[in-house]
This record gives sequence, C-alpha cells and structure tokens, in this order.
Amino acid sequence: MNNDLTFCQMPLDRASTLRKDQTWMQDKLSSEDSCFYFFWRGKFLYHQQKLTIFTKKNSIDTESEYTHAEVFTDALHTNGTIFLGTSADIAYFVCDLSIMTDDEIGLWLAKLVIENIKFIDFRRSLSLLSPQQAAILSYGKALIHWQQSALHCGGCGAKTKALDGGHRRVCLDDNCQKEHFPRTDPAVIMLVEYQPKSGPAVCLLAEHHRTPEQAFSTLAGFVDPGESLQEAVAREVLEEAGVHVTNIRYVDSQPWPFPNSLMIGFIAQASGLDLCLEEEELRSAAWFTAKQLVDFKEWGDDIEGPKLPRKESIARLLIDAWCKSQFEASAQVIAKANQE
Ligand SMILES: [Zn+2]
Repeated sequence: MNNDLTFCQMPLDRASTLRKDQTWMQDKLSSEDSCFYFFWRGKFLYHQQKLTIFTKKNSIDTESEYTHAEVFTDALHTNGTIFLGTSADIAYFVCDLSIMTDDEIGLWLAKLVIENIKFIDFRRSLSLLSPQQAAILSYGKALIHWQQSALHCGGCGAKTKALDGGHRRVCLDDNCQKEHFPRTDPAVIMLVEYQPKSGPAVCLLAEHHRTPEQAFSTLAGFVDPGESLQEAVAREVLEEAGVHVTNIRYVDSQPWPFPNSLMIGFIAQASGLDLCLEEEELRSAAWFTAKQLVDFKEWGDDIEGPKLPRKESIARLLIDAWCKSQFEASAQVIAKANQE
C-alpha cells in the first residue's frame, strides 16, 4: 500500500458506531468545539488560500477570530450537514450549502465579514491542501454527491431523510421505509506491459479523448455488474486496445471523488504488441520503454511533447512504479554482467 497517494491519508476516525447514536450526534452538532467545512456546488471555502474550518465560537485559524452564530444557524438549516469523523474527540462535519442560489450564497459570505474568503473548486485547489486535508475533503465530497442523488427513494420515489450523521437515508413512505447507503463505483485502472524475448519491456499508454492532446495515461474503466476485478481488467484492455492480458496483479487503490469512484490499480501482461483501438474512447495508444518515459513532460506543462498523468493519480503511481522496477531490473543485469 502506498500511503503517499493523494486522498489516501485520512486522519479522522470515522466513528461508524458512534455516529448511529442520535444523542451523541446532537451533542457534537451543537458543541462549540466541533469543526465545520463549508461546501457549495463543487467548491470548498478558503480564506487567503487556506482551507477554512469554522467552529461555533471562532475560526480555528488563529490569525483571525470571529463569532458566527447567525452564519451557522443559516447553514445548518440547509439540512446538508454530514458527519465526517473525529480526531482527539473533536467532531468534524461538512456543511453542504449547494441548495443556496448565487445571490443567497453571496449574502451568506457577506455576513462572514471576512476579507479574501471564497469558495474554490475542489479539483483546482488540491495544491493548496495537505494530503490529510485532501483525504477529508474527498470523503466529504463523495458523501455530498451521494446525498444529493439520494433525496428520493430509488424503490418508490418518495422523499428520504438523512440518519446516522448523513451516512444512511431512509424512505419516508410508511409502506416502503427502504434504507439507502452511500455508493462507491469501482473502476479498474491498469498498466499493461509486454516483455519481448530480447530487449527492454514496454508499457501501453493511451491518449484519451477526455484529456488534452499528448497527455498519456494507463487504460481504465468501470467494473460491470456480475464481473470480478480481474475480468474487468481483461475486458477493458481487450475492448479499448484489442490486447489480450494475463497475469493480472493488484498494485494499489485510490478513492477518486470525481464524483465517487474507487480506482483499483493493476499491472497485467500483454500477449502481443498488436493494437486495435476503440476510437470512441482513445485518440491514440503506443508502447513505451521506461527510458522513453523519462523524457515525458509533466501534466500541465506548457511545452510540446508527450506528458505523464497528474502526480496525485494512481495512473501516475502505476507508471512510476513500473519504470522504477524496469530500471532496477536493468541495473541488476548490468551488475551481474560485471561480476561475470
Ligand atoms: Zn421508498
């Protein structure tokens, strides 16, 4: 397991038993020590480019202290407050204000009377966050996404209400009362390698239509119902690139809150080099040696040439780990040759 991967360093105890205790939850919701993040339509609240946590007595940010009783009253009335977990017995919540219109959120922000406070898009703000903050917000964003899509019962269409601090919803129709729980969509992501009889191994990377030109990445896709993870890897690689794979091995996983996936990373061996691309998905694909990948540019670089995936992604972890293993293997070959 690689704990350096973004979204994988959760510092909070999810307190999954305590959150079912309504009295405990009410105590934490009204406690002056509890910490609240604010979310509005894909964005979290920042003050001077720093993620803002509010308590009912003042801001945790010691550079500025203010009281926000009225602001909290407004926010908590949106019914979008979700419990995230605890740290040192302090409870953390995320408060979803997305129900507010542009004008309403503008008024709400004005009530804070704080300069340089604004909502920033989560994905664009990743560079402003510590790995722990990114993990908490990723968790919060995924729960908010689920809450917003589960306001009505999937069984009968009646309204649902949130329970257990926002981790369960129950249908309000007396004849139905169906329970609903947060969903995670599993997706497989795989580095496909080919080892020729002689010469260096190569890996398959592709340009996807959904990313900028010359941004190369591994193949990936959602797991179908009734399918094992290994079957999903083999199917996706065959569908997208026309390549048969064997020896499929798990490497690592990463929650991916855009909107609520779990990326499950694998390495697999190709049976041959011939490609037959699914043109609806891929712009191009090619085989690369580890040595060639060293010359790739970074994601977002304003320079011509092929680029690697974002550093926070599991695609990049798979590529970096594969390159490292290739260089280590060739160093061992050279060391052995020198001994002989
Ligand atoms: Zn129902």
